[in-house]
Amino acid sequence: MSPAARAGEAGPDHWTHEWAGGFGRARELLAWLGLEPAAVGLSEAAADRFAFRVTRSFARRMRRGDPADPLLRQVLPATDELLPAPGFSQDPVGDLGSRRAPGLLHKYHGRALLVTTASCAIHCRYCFRREFPYESNRLEPRDQAATLAAIAADPSLQEIILSGGDPLALDDHRLEALFAELSRIPQLRRLRMHTRLPVVLPARIGDHLLRLLDDCPLPVTVVIHANHAQELDAEVESALGRLRMACAALLNQSVLLRGVNDSVESLAELSERLFACGVLPYYLHQLDRVSGAAHFEVSDDEAIALARALGARLPGYLVPRLVREIAGEPAKTPLALT
Ligand code: SF4
Repeated sequence: MSPAARAGEAGPDHWTHEWAGGFGRARELLAWLGLEPAAVGLSEAAADRFAFRVTRSFARRMRRGDPADPLLRQVLPATDELLPAPGFSQDPVGDLGSRRAPGLLHKYHGRALLVTTASCAIHCRYCFRREFPYESNRLEPRDQAATLAAIAADPSLQEIILSGGDPLALDDHRLEALFAELSRIPQLRRLRMHTRLPVVLPARIGDHLLRLLDDCPLPVTVVIHANHAQELDAEVESALGRLRMACAALLNQSVLLRGVNDSVESLAELSERLFACGVLPYYLHQLDRVSGAAHFEVSDDEAIALARALGARLPGYLVPRLVREIAGEPAKTPLALT
C-alpha cells in the first residue's frame, strides 16, 4: 500500500502517484520537450553513473525546445560529467568522516543532521551526495532507537536537521513518529528540514503534512532548495504559502551554477520571486566539488563579484550569504561580505 493510501488521504495529498509518474529516462523528457539528445549533450553513460529522475511538475516549468533551459540543465545527464576534473571527489564535504551513529552526521556545534532516506523526487546533477553510500549511512527503522539514544546522550545538541535524500520522501506516519521521538529529547529546541519537494513536487504539501508540522512540539524550520525563479510557478507559490503558515520559518538555499543562475539578473529575480512566495533567501552555496559536477562550477572571483552586485541591487534581507562548505571547518565559510 502506498504511503498516502495508508494515511487514508486522497486529492491534494495524493502525491505518491505523481512521484511514481515522473520521468525516469532522459530521452522521454527530451522527446516531450521537443529536443534532440545530441543537441543537448545527453550522455547515457552519465545517467548510468547517477540515475536520471525528474517530476512532471518540474518538467512542466521547462521551456519546450530550449536546449539551454536552466531547469533542464540541472537534471540533464551530460557528457561533461564524464570529463576528468582534478580536485573533484566522491565526498567533497567530508560527510563520511562526520558519522556519529547510523544516519547521524555531526559537523557543527549544537546541531546534527539525520540522513533519513536516499530518495529524491528529482536527481540534481550537481548534488554533493550524488556519490553518497546511502545503503550503509541512512537512518533505517531498525537503527532509529540507537541513533536517537546517541542524540539524547549529547547535551550539546539543540537542533536536529532532517536531510537525505529528501526527508519529505518519508511518508507522514514515519515523519510523525520521528517528530514525536525527537520532541521527547529534552535538550532539543528546534528541528529543521532540508527539502526540495515543495519546489519539485508541490503536491507533497498536503493537509496531513501541514497538521504534522503545526502540531510538532518543537518549532520546525523548513529550508527549501530553488536555484532559479522559473522553478517557482503558481502551484509552488500556493504550496509555499500553506507551508509558511505551518512552520516556524521558511528559508531557501541555492547553489551557484554555471549556465543556470550565474548572473546578477537571475539571482535578483530568484530573490524577488522567493520573497513573493513568502520565503527568505538564506544561503547561496559555492558548488561542492563532487565528481561529475565540474561543468557547473563558477570561480570564486566571479561568485564574489556576483554577490557584491546582488548586494548593491537588493535590500539586505533578500541577499543570500555566499558560502562554501569546507570539510573540517566549524561552520560554512563566507566568501563575501555583501
Ligand atoms: S533534491 Fe537535494 S539531495 Fe536530492 S538530488 Fe537534488 S540536491 Fe541532491
